[in-house]
Amino acid sequence: MSADPLQLEGENLGGAPRRRFELEDTGFDEVPKKYRKFYRKWGGEGDRLGPNEILCPVCKVVIRSTRELRPGDRLYCMPCMSRLVVVEGPDGNLEAKVLYAG
Ligand SMILES: [Zn+2]
Repeated sequence: MSADPLQLEGENLGGAPRRRFELEDTGFDEVPKKYRKFYRKWGGEGDRLGPNEILCPVCKVVIRSTRELRPGDRLYCMPCMSRLVVVEGPDGNLEAKVLYAG
């Protein structure tokens, strides 16, 4: 089983292949070691999210996936146990909406 927080239901439904990303442990220590590379601390104003990263609106932790994120993707935020869905925000950037907060 993959530890990736991205829960793909149907892969690449008619779209272009997703870019893949190598993740490194950034020292996020609020989850067990094996999951650390999937999260990092948000740097605040000026921090830039990659195409494989999304900010959890609940705990303000950056969730990272090994794949590019797209609207409709579902994610699990382990630090706050929220289930999220990726949506396109008013500015065209991807953001996460809470489906269920644990
Ligand atoms: Zn969270």
